[in-house]
Amino acid sequence: AQPLLIVRDLQKYFPVRGGILGRAQGRVQAVDGVNFEVKKGETLGIVGESGCGKSTTAKLLIGLTEKDRGEIIFDGKALGRELPLKDLRRGVQMVFQDSYATLNPRLTILDSVAFGARVQGLPNPESLARSMMDRVGLDPDRFAHRYPHELSGGQRQRVNIARALAMSPRLVVLDEAVSALDKSVEAQVLNLLSDLREEFGLTYIFISHDLNVVRYISDRILVMYLGEVVEVAPVDAIWERQAHPYTRSLFSAMPSMDPDNRTEEPPLAGDPPNPINPPAGCRFHTRCRHASGVCKTTVPTLAGLPLNAAHRVACHLHDATSGHPEAGQGVPA
Ligand code: SF4
Ligand code: MG
Repeated sequence: AQPLLIVRDLQKYFPVRGGILGRAQGRVQAVDGVNFEVKKGETLGIVGESGCGKSTTAKLLIGLTEKDRGEIIFDGKALGRELPLKDLRRGVQMVFQDSYATLNPRLTILDSVAFGARVQGLPNPESLARSMMDRVGLDPDRFAHRYPHELSGGQRQRVNIARALAMSPRLVVLDEAVSALDKSVEAQVLNLLSDLREEFGLTYIFISHDLNVVRYISDRILVMYLGEVVEVAPVDAIWERQAHPYTRSLFSAMPSMDPDNRTEEPPLAGDPPNPINPPAGCRFHTRCRHASGVCKTTVPTLAGLPLNAAHRVACHLHDATSGHPEAGQGVPA
């Protein structure tokens, strides 16, 4: 079956202005040549430090930000050619972290949930909204005529989920959607998302800085660093063995990591480099203790591991022909 979403060589940069005349001083390559696919019904988790391009990728996927290059192919149709933006915006819905900022404070919960359906001219937006509220665990008789400020953070996030589902999306992009919630509420919302995925046959892209949350909900995990994909793998494979030194550092920084799976990689030191002038070669070389000469000059390509082609990594250590002194040996344990 063809993937529901194919992203090819996606690129986005933002000009950086400075000085009293506000002249362009350079550009930040927020997303640089990103490639991935999402199958129908699966959840792809995207992880990485803040500023790595996760949120920009999400915004490109729903057309909130316009790409500079590359292709977004949704359900077999390329955005901008066979697929008009308005169709993409209906087929792909997004749920953000800040449940309060995304709701209009002057609209009742019912009107918020029905809003998109009304704009799209769908039949019976009100009864649709009531049934979606019911489905996310908000009794419409109790909540329909309340306002966002009268709800808890978890209830507001349920409203956002109901609002997204009312549009009958195929793909839902969740950007730090449970990150602001207390742990117990977070677990409830994650369970709800799992149930809804099943019930409506949804596909998710789940962006989070919390690896445990991503593990719980995802089938595959994609790791980004400075606008690039450095590793992508089925969740069990990457939990078993992180192949990229950056991924290893991310995982070893997890307080609850099972000691058997804990890597020897030290946690990340320092801040990511300035994205206006990213390092040449492998962008991670300034923070990687395995870096060698070739890492500073040559960009590693994303390729499958010999024992598991579905586990892809961009690092010279895993490429027997890269010229790295330990080429082909993988990351030393
Ligand atoms: Fe480290 Fe080199 Fe691999 Fe980059 S390519 S992660 S610098 S070993
Ligand atoms: Mg973000």
